[in-house]
Amino acid sequence: MGSVRFFRHVIYLCLFFIVAGPYFCMAALYCQNRELHAEIRELTLKVLDTEDSEKAPSRSESRKISSSLGYQDKYPDLYCSPQTAFVKKEKTVYLTFDDGPSRFTESYLNILAKHNVKATFFVVGRNDPKSREIMKRIVDDGHTLAPHTYSHVYSTVYASVEAFLDDFSKIHGLIYETTGVKPTIFRFPGGTVNVHNRRIFRELSAEMLRRGYTFFDWDVSAADATKNATMASVLDSIINGVHENGRNIVLMHDTSEVTLKALEKAIIYLKNKGYAFDRLTNEVAPVTFYYNYLKEGGV
Ligand SMILES: [Zn+2]
Repeated sequence: MGSVRFFRHVIYLCLFFIVAGPYFCMAALYCQNRELHAEIRELTLKVLDTEDSEKAPSRSESRKISSSLGYQDKYPDLYCSPQTAFVKKEKTVYLTFDDGPSRFTESYLNILAKHNVKATFFVVGRNDPKSREIMKRIVDDGHTLAPHTYSHVYSTVYASVEAFLDDFSKIHGLIYETTGVKPTIFRFPGGTVNVHNRRIFRELSAEMLRRGYTFFDWDVSAADATKNATMASVLDSIINGVHENGRNIVLMHDTSEVTLKALEKAIIYLKNKGYAFDRLTNEVAPVTFYYNYLKEGGV
């Protein structure tokens, strides 16, 4: 009888372990888990602490950073109100002319006036009386007159952000003195991202945006800056580049005689296709080359 009772106890004990065992295991695992969590939390906090102290510059580092951005304190008058609300016009073409004034610019203005087309001139630093007279006419005729840099020498204007500001201040001053216009838009020589400014374009565009300026690249090129350009090739590039859904900011150069010959034909063709023309202002949403443009064989 005794051995039967003994075996019964053994069986109860076994049953107890079978039923309660998993709960013991779970409890043990839970405790272990909590310890692990606490350990991970502590480690994470330590890492964050180190990162924070790495991120926060020391006093000497802060001084270094603020002195390297010293250009932000230069030219306190070189600011304008940034545009935040942009207007999108349907089927509109924005003709833009770079690198003038030139001996051809007045002929360009005559064609634009004949067809009542408003456009945009991104000018360089020519301060002779004739060039100043042309700049005044650009404004009087209702076009936009805006900077394209004074020297247009890539190695000079893109030497540093400060060098760009030095140049920009000169062309800004020339336009303001000559016409009374305070520019709010401009175009970078070669566009916002190009092989000449790849080292500084992020910092440079950030600085110009901080100052409130809007800069325009283009989505249609007349391809008139090459030696092989002809009247037919320029006309082709314009009419094939303009699209109903495009932004249609057309890059041209009023230093080119070939483009002058193509201009009237292009205007007539596009008017017949139902396009309107307008000048750029900071209310027009800008076309800007994207940052990996260079990798894809940009300018
Ligand atoms: Zn140019």
